[in-house]
Amino acid sequence: MQKSKRHLWSVTILLLFSLVITLVSVFIVQCLLQLRTEIGEHTERYVSDVTIQIAQDIDNRISKVVTDLVSVSESLSMLDSDIHENIGGYLEQKVKTLGFTSLLITDQTQVIYQTCSQQEDFFSNAAVQQALQGENGIDFLQDGSMIYTAPIYENDSKEIIGVLGGIRDIKNMQNLIQLDSFSGRGLTCIVDNEGNVIVAPTDSAPFLQLDSIFQEEDSDSDVSQSIRQMEKDLVENRPGIFRFKAKDDSDLILSYDPLPSSGWILLTLVPSDIISKTVNLYMSRVLGISLLTVCLLISIPFILFFIQRNHYRQIRQSAFVDRLTGKMNNSAFQMECEKILPFSAPETYSIIFFDIKNFKLINNLFGIGQGDMILRYVMDVLNTKVQGYGFAARAASDNFYLCLHLGNQEEILTFINDVLQSVNVVMEKYFQSLDTSYYFVLQSGVYIIEDPMLDITIMQDRAKAACQNRSDTEDGVVKFYNVDILDRMKKEQELNAMFSHSLENRDFQLYLQPKIWVQKGTVGGAEALVRWIHPQKGMIFPSDFIPMFEANGNICKLDFYIFEEVCRTLSRWLADGRTVFPVSVNLSRQHFKHPDFLSRLADLARRYRVPTNLLQLELTESIFFNESEVETVKNFIGQMHQLGFQCSLDDFGSGFSTLGLLMEFDVDDIKLDRSFFKDIHNPKTGDIVSSVIDLSRKIGAMSVAEGVETTEQLELLKKMRCDLVQGYIFSKPLPVVEFETWVQRHQAKFGL
Ligand code: C2E
Ligand code: CA
Ligand code: CA
Repeated sequence: MQKSKRHLWSVTILLLFSLVITLVSVFIVQCLLQLRTEIGEHTERYVSDVTIQIAQDIDNRISKVVTDLVSVSESLSMLDSDIHENIGGYLEQKVKTLGFTSLLITDQTQVIYQTCSQQEDFFSNAAVQQALQGENGIDFLQDGSMIYTAPIYENDSKEIIGVLGGIRDIKNMQNLIQLDSFSGRGLTCIVDNEGNVIVAPTDSAPFLQLDSIFQEEDSDSDVSQSIRQMEKDLVENRPGIFRFKAKDDSDLILSYDPLPSSGWILLTLVPSDIISKTVNLYMSRVLGISLLTVCLLISIPFILFFIQRNHYRQIRQSAFVDRLTGKMNNSAFQMECEKILPFSAPETYSIIFFDIKNFKLINNLFGIGQGDMILRYVMDVLNTKVQGYGFAARAASDNFYLCLHLGNQEEILTFINDVLQSVNVVMEKYFQSLDTSYYFVLQSGVYIIEDPMLDITIMQDRAKAACQNRSDTEDGVVKFYNVDILDRMKKEQELNAMFSHSLENRDFQLYLQPKIWVQKGTVGGAEALVRWIHPQKGMIFPSDFIPMFEANGNICKLDFYIFEEVCRTLSRWLADGRTVFPVSVNLSRQHFKHPDFLSRLADLARRYRVPTNLLQLELTESIFFNESEVETVKNFIGQMHQLGFQCSLDDFGSGFSTLGLLMEFDVDDIKLDRSFFKDIHNPKTGDIVSSVIDLSRKIGAMSVAEGVETTEQLELLKKMRCDLVQGYIFSKPLPVVEFETWVQRHQAKFGL
């Protein structure tokens, strides 16, 4: 749910971002298009302005030439009729000052004077004809030079007596139309009103043959219309401009402007990209940069998205992968379960819990590195076997969970037995490779999911509770969860909740069980055992609450409470002048977490004025045989003795005790576990018991036989020279007052 919400958010933000970027892009493109239109319009204006400017220049130049010529002609009119005598020098001078190549005077029949003789049929020239008609003229000669003409009048009359012709090099005109304005890319020419090119630049390009420029468009096309408009404009002496596509596919602008002084037309032909080419270059750069920016902007959220996704994956990886095995961890397991189980039918799936028995011992015996290796091997087998059925995870330390798509007890049993067999094969090989052998046990508990809506943690707890619900003789047995276990769990929960109140209320009571000297039969001591006498629930035995309090730490408070009760009792006995004997108190291993616990116990004894040698501290054997704690335990035993306490090794023989290790510890009592005496008649067991008793004597410790119920057992122990016996054969644990009476009665038998 969380993930899909986050995903939705990311997608929405991405979409919004993309939308904004798209809008910005559209805006930029629109601006550029607008810019392009404006540049187009601007280009046309610019071309038109330049053409008009050139046209004016040319027109002014022609007018000036004409004016100069007219003034010469007027001067000539004023000369005397003796024209031939004076004229030569005058015209020579004017040629130089006015920039003509030559000046000539002609009448209707012959050239009267010429500054520079030139073979030319002047009389058929249109300009000469025009001058003879009384108008100024302008035309070209056959050699390509230009001729300007003006009539020469009879002095003070309107009679034309001749024509003054001024010849100029066409280059003057060509220079005027050679454009710098369009970076050399434009072409300007002068045409007559029939469209014939009169003056073209020296390098006049073929496209100046206008016929060949225009594509053959049909008469309705834009170009044809523009040409028609141009023809109309020229007739009416109007300038104009239009765009068209030339035959060579280039886009051109044609600007035309009449030259009134000559009746000719100035045409300017410019590529339409004359301005936009440079602008286009900048525009495409701007566009390119904008596009790049937009792409970058668009890619940023995607990059961020991918970085975030990668990051999320890494977090997921570290959050859901078990670092030791590289497989699923418990969080991943629970997540996977939540995806499937709530939608499954009852009793179609099961949760299986696996626990390696005494894994701590494995770590201690073979080292943490080998322990880790074993965990990986077990996980590998589980993972392989579960394929096709479900999935497996390592939850913590040596605990594994499987979610199995099987709901039938028989099928589950077959599956687990197959798993256990494979694990055993792998482990056997592994221990062989270490040149050792070890009794490897994988315990398992199963919860067949009856209620798929239950919280996955509860399902796991049930499988675990089923696994833990086993007796010592049920090693490797597959245990299934049932309602009784749930009841027990509920009861435990209840008891836990009642603890504090009961402690304040003194509901915990001290019971004492006597220890009897085997040979003499007299009382040699007692063991303090707790009983929880609850006002509503009645008597509750230690087995129902001690393991639970061991797990949650309450046991320490309870042990101190019982210890104080023992001190109170001993103190009273001492005060009453009774015969006293050592009383042993059970101490949980949890005390080792508090290094000052022994001094606190000693303080209590001092407060009740009880000599510490009357107090024995019982430590269960599992504490002694945990290799990593050997030094700590030795230390504590040393401190106990320093404080005057006696130390008793409890439950010897119930677990992995080794006789060799016994020598390591300086204990005062060794309590043989009652499991020894169940089959004490078995010669092997008898031998063991006997050697433990002998060994105890050798190391200076008393041997105490626990849980002795029959005279047969007692007789055997007597033979084996056991020191003390504690068991129902003499008495059950009794409340202090009853115990006192029992002791009195018992001692009386011996005249004490
Ligand atoms: P444990 O220290 O081994 O105590 C001896 C247990 O054997 C006692 O059980 C006692 O009632 C029982 N027992 C004695 N003689 C016989 C017999 O002849 N036959 C049989 N079947 N049982 C016999 P209890 O009192 O139920 O205590 C059980 C365990 O609870 C104790 O085992 C001890 O480990 C623990 N415990 C009891 N009281 C305390 C306590 O105050 N503090 C701590 N830390 N543990 C305690
Ligand atoms: Ca004990
Ligand atoms: Ca015991």
